[in-house]
Amino acid sequence: MIDFKYQCSECGRKYKITPDRMLCPECSKRQEQDKPLRGILEVAFDGHFHHQPKMSDLLPVEKKYFPKIPVGGTSLWIPANIADDLSFPNLYIKDDTHNLTGSLKDRASYLVAAFAKREGIREIVVASTGNAASSMAGVGAAAGLNITIFLPESAPRAKMIQSLQYGARVIMVAGSYDRAFDLSLEYSRKYHVLSRNTAFNPLTIEGKKTVALEIYHQLGKAPDYMFVPTGDGVILGGVYKGFRDLMKLGIIDRIPTIIAVQAEGSNAITQAFETGVFTPIDAQTVADSISVGIPRNGYYVLKQLKKYDGKCVTVFDDEILTAQKELSAKAGLFTEPAASASYAGFLKMKDELPKDATIVLLATGNGLKDIDSAQKSVEFPAKAISALEDLE
Ligand SMILES: *Cc1c(COP(=O)(O)O)cnc(C)c1O
Repeated sequence: MIDFKYQCSECGRKYKITPDRMLCPECSKRQEQDKPLRGILEVAFDGHFHHQPKMSDLLPVEKKYFPKIPVGGTSLWIPANIADDLSFPNLYIKDDTHNLTGSLKDRASYLVAAFAKREGIREIVVASTGNAASSMAGVGAAAGLNITIFLPESAPRAKMIQSLQYGARVIMVAGSYDRAFDLSLEYSRKYHVLSRNTAFNPLTIEGKKTVALEIYHQLGKAPDYMFVPTGDGVILGGVYKGFRDLMKLGIIDRIPTIIAVQAEGSNAITQAFETGVFTPIDAQTVADSISVGIPRNGYYVLKQLKKYDGKCVTVFDDEILTAQKELSAKAGLFTEPAASASYAGFLKMKDELPKDATIVLLATGNGLKDIDSAQKSVEFPAKAISALEDLE
């Protein structure tokens, strides 16, 4: 029998997995204002498997509670034109733009929805700037759950429309994402509703680990390098968690070199990697999904980047937009700017990498989610024609 518990990533204390347990009650007492979260919990398993565990055996919610929708199981493929041009024959894309709602966030929403089903919970609330909201709205709709979303007024329109299409109740908040986050927590406590706030609900890290488990199964081994676009650090934390689970089971014997890719104007984790200190920044980048002033999983991922010899790389907005255009035009993969950042980070670091290395670029979100940014690197047809002669 395998037993799942929450375990504090700082003090190691264990707790039962319950809907209202979000942080370690002891370590979160040391929370400081404008700093990453203290007392991040992760899911830990105890006991022995009598057979090679399947992916669903490694999740803390039984398979029968998951909605019957295509989440995860995304393809891993070599972008041949790029791999040939740059002479990196083992360069892969893990294409999570092909999830149900078009982003990797579905992996977290999927697990949270299954947990809600198991616990008999009817409503989930989430504060988000975009993809976490549209993801929870879509996955929640398929699971028959009521979804309430707190969005800052500045949220990108396409992502808001997507949430409304799925039938979520959208509450607009005057102020920043942080204000929306606080109000959503107040709401979850007042009305006893499950919170899916990213980085805060431990199941968000746990759900995202499945991307690492899949990559291992698809390659038949762990990659040498993996590029992960990073804002709050939940995806990064999830990727580490997946590979750490595999190591704990004796399936792999080392953790890949993981590279956190951040936008130059939203690089709090990179700064802390270099200085050891988290300083809140006024985040500014074209890549809205990785635009974060105070990365909520900051301490949690910094520890792992250090322990497993990870790296950080920052990319400018114009490098992100160039990478976006190139991925579209050479690989046929249209990604939103945050997702293009993986490729931009790889382009920046490629001279330091061995040519024969197995490298995975994580593509986290679909390009149609942010048309305004995508417009910046294309030219519109000059005028309408009425006959082919007009082309000359
Ligand atoms: C949320 C998101 C990210 C960043 O994930 P974090 O967990 O905040 O680091 C990157 N790309 C896309 C498309 C996202 O939606």
